[in-house]
Amino acid sequence: MNDLFVQTFLLKVAARCNIDCDYCYEYKLADQSWRSKPSRMPIQVLFKTIKRIKEHILSHELKGISIIFHGGEPLLAGKDFFEQAVTHINGELSSFCEVKFGMQSNGVLLDAEWANLLLRLKVGIGISIDGYKQLNDEHRLDYRGNSTFPRVEAAMKILSQPQYSEIRGGFLTVIQPESNPIKLLEWFRKFGKTQIDFLLPHYNHQRKPPSAYDAVHGYGYGLWLAQLFDYWWNNDIHEIKIRIFEDLMHLMIGGRYAVESFGLSPVHLAVIQTDGEYEAVDSLKSTYDGAVSTSKNISDHSFDDIFSEYLILSRTAKFENLPEKCRECRLVKACGGGYIPHRYHPVFGFNMPTIYCQDLIFLIKHIEKYLLLDEKIRTQLVEHIGSTPTGISSV
Ligand code: SF4
Repeated sequence: MNDLFVQTFLLKVAARCNIDCDYCYEYKLADQSWRSKPSRMPIQVLFKTIKRIKEHILSHELKGISIIFHGGEPLLAGKDFFEQAVTHINGELSSFCEVKFGMQSNGVLLDAEWANLLLRLKVGIGISIDGYKQLNDEHRLDYRGNSTFPRVEAAMKILSQPQYSEIRGGFLTVIQPESNPIKLLEWFRKFGKTQIDFLLPHYNHQRKPPSAYDAVHGYGYGLWLAQLFDYWWNNDIHEIKIRIFEDLMHLMIGGRYAVESFGLSPVHLAVIQTDGEYEAVDSLKSTYDGAVSTSKNISDHSFDDIFSEYLILSRTAKFENLPEKCRECRLVKACGGGYIPHRYHPVFGFNMPTIYCQDLIFLIKHIEKYLLLDEKIRTQLVEHIGSTPTGISSV
């Protein structure tokens, strides 16, 4: 099997959101393509997409795939849509291919009725939240400027009940480097065994991080993450899986599973917009207007056709598409040049190391000290991390 195939299909089932986060790459940054897209994916577009996915599975002899319902806010697609969509997908695909369903939601609409539906349909759900109220209110308000925190916290409490363990998918949290990482981790801890994907904000070489944290003035994000790592590791709180640490450690001990933001293994992901257009990974909307467009769609093109697009192909041949500085870097197998949207430069395009290069050097070397400490810790790490992904989608 060559590397040019898709295994994670990210379906934009709603191209609008019910809250108004100020850092949202879908609506608030460079790309404004959402304005011309249907607000919901019509069920006929979903049916056509599944036909293409089926064709792709058969031609590449795939044994398992993931379908991620995404937005905007995917719950805006409505309960009937999910009922119809999942029933159709299972009918079309599950006799010859294992299909896992996931979703990334802001949690505002999630109540017990939704949770029960998702449980019955076996759709895992991850919640986006930046932490306790004060932190979450920094960026994640609704359209009236009110806090979304109480509604999201209520959703987290529902999902933390034992009957939902099968669909509980963890949290996406954007790092605020001025916050206290220990206080934040302790807050998450009250929701029990979980996984957290701490995300670096979508800055790049054009739109740089605030000066106190940029690569010229220091490595504030790296320091924040190193502090979090120390507390997480030294207090043995491994009932909380932290994706950025587990991914980096996995790569540092020679692992090869595909990691969205790091490493050199190919990423087998495609995005399908509400109108059926194929797009490059959605976080690229933070770079420039039109960055994700392929001008190819599910009516006229197969998934194989999208590999002629640079921003899709470059994620399957990561090393060859890195700048010289990264190709020669000692840390490249773990870092992989960083996440592609963070490499964008208005003149040099993506031929740059991530804007977080200094942060990642600091963090990787910090973790490396633990790995080198002694053989026992190394063995412990290998056992702890294993060889399978943590399974949280960072997209
Ligand atoms: S981004 Fe920096 S740390 Fe990462 S591979 Fe490139 S040069 Fe090395």
